[in-house]
Amino acid sequence: MADLAPPPPPERLLIGTAVSAGVAHAVVHVLKDHFDEPDEDSIAPEAVDHEMKRLHAALDVTRQEIEALRREMGAEEGSAESEIFETHLLIIQDGSILRQVEKTVREQLISVDYAYYRLMTKHMEKLRGLQDAYLRERFLDIKDVTQRVMRHLRGELLETPMFDEPVIIVAHDLTPSDTVQLDRSKVLGFALETGSAVSHAAIIAKSLAIPAVVKLHGICETLHSGDAVFLDGEEGHLIVNPTPETLARYRSREEQAEKREDVFQVDRHGEAITTCGSVICVGANAEFVEEAQIVNDSGAEEVGLFRTEMLHLENPNSTEDEIATAYTTVVKSLAPKRVVFRTLDLGGDKVDERLAEEPEPNPFLGWRGIRLSLGKPDMFRTQLRALLRAAMHGRVGIMFPMVSGLQEVLDAKALLAECAAELEREGHTIPEAIEVGAMIEIPSAALSADQIAAEVDFFSLGTNDLIQYTLAVDRLNDRVAGLYQPTHPAVLRLIDLSVLAARRAGIRIGICGEMASSLELTPLMIGLGLNELSVAAGQVARVKHAIRQLNVPECQALAAEALKRSLPGEILELTRSHALRCYPELFE
Ligand code: PEP
Ligand code: MG
Repeated sequence: MADLAPPPPPERLLIGTAVSAGVAHAVVHVLKDHFDEPDEDSIAPEAVDHEMKRLHAALDVTRQEIEALRREMGAEEGSAESEIFETHLLIIQDGSILRQVEKTVREQLISVDYAYYRLMTKHMEKLRGLQDAYLRERFLDIKDVTQRVMRHLRGELLETPMFDEPVIIVAHDLTPSDTVQLDRSKVLGFALETGSAVSHAAIIAKSLAIPAVVKLHGICETLHSGDAVFLDGEEGHLIVNPTPETLARYRSREEQAEKREDVFQVDRHGEAITTCGSVICVGANAEFVEEAQIVNDSGAEEVGLFRTEMLHLENPNSTEDEIATAYTTVVKSLAPKRVVFRTLDLGGDKVDERLAEEPEPNPFLGWRGIRLSLGKPDMFRTQLRALLRAAMHGRVGIMFPMVSGLQEVLDAKALLAECAAELEREGHTIPEAIEVGAMIEIPSAALSADQIAAEVDFFSLGTNDLIQYTLAVDRLNDRVAGLYQPTHPAVLRLIDLSVLAARRAGIRIGICGEMASSLELTPLMIGLGLNELSVAAGQVARVKHAIRQLNVPECQALAAEALKRSLPGEILELTRSHALRCYPELFE
């Protein structure tokens, strides 16, 4: 009898850009934008205006989103795609919808979410039953727009995905607030349509030590949840329906790579001492409480950057006690290592929709980091008090993000001192000296580093942002990714200035941006005088190995030469060839 089993689906190779190393073989879970149906919540008469303001804000962000999509797809005027976007924009700007929603909210005193959703559903129902294919299509347009507006209205970016088995997440992009909603214990990798090596999805993948590949354009449409894939975070490949031969080939490649890796891992808990005897502190960056074990195992000597905004996005309504408990767990699980907690760096791409009263035209130049914290003193106080309470259980540093000049540091320190005094009055024992630091990630902070240095115990260079702000290159934008150059002379000069200011003031200076993880740049970083590198946990052993092969005076000569050069490519080549000469084994 003939074998009726269908032939296996053909293998397909999709090529993107690798941003976090490792490989994974699993089924995919495709994240689609989604929202739950709203309840019919009643509101007080005085809340009507606020409700309408929320709807206007949601419509405005949706409009911007659709316009961006239209630009991204390069839809030509008059084309079918362009017509779809035009239709969507018309639905958003439809005055009669707005008027009807407002009337319902005012007269029936129900939430705007429900009023808007009910009205749009009515329109959809009407169109759905029509014979005319064109009009039936309009049903999909209204559905799409309604979904977008509802997501923004309700601050829900994604469904909370439930997967019973380990999966590779496929999505257009993963913002930090999307990522915190995932069950990370079941996520084996990220395959994304957009993003870059310094987008937060890539940073988080590195922290969690899982592979990530970005720039896999169109995969959200072509893949479906349940498809089997092999994700290669070294080569930037996504193999759909991998054959047994492909899997076997990868297995043998992995075995070889693991053997090579073991050599660097053996000494990971030892100090990183250069050939001339200088000790360089290598720490890890972290975001989640459960990462403590990965950090402890990585050989990191401290956590040079704990991004607290991820915990906040996970549980935005946490009380001071709950936050203090979470921070204390981190401190205790990492003791005696120092943990540098960065105060909330919300804003930019790390948006807490509850705080975003109005959408900002330029979020990365807007209400972000320390600006937002100082503008929300009650929220900031809660965090500072929680940090001070956690500091009673181990070595804690407190670091302020997105500092643009001295005043913000003074204001933040004043609030910190008030919180400390308050806690003492309440009977808590506050450690004598808590180290306070500033991130240098805005050019103005680097240029006034001498002034800021007088007020802090340490600097940490946030080069992910420093590069973006110095070169006016959006760190998330594919189109200008080629201009995002860590070795641009302007960036090196700002680093040099900051190091000089720190030295003169006698304070420590380190780096926690992704530049610190790049093995090609290690000689340059050491030569520029950075002796604390905080890197992705998975990179600690390799960075330590690299440092052990370097000689500081040679690195200083390299940095001096680099500072004289004008072209980013030339500078990159200088440090790359130095690195290749000193530790070729790390590039095999
Ligand atoms: C940086 O900007 O380099 C940094 C470490 O902070 P984040 O990536 O969270 O902006
Ligand atoms: Mg930053």
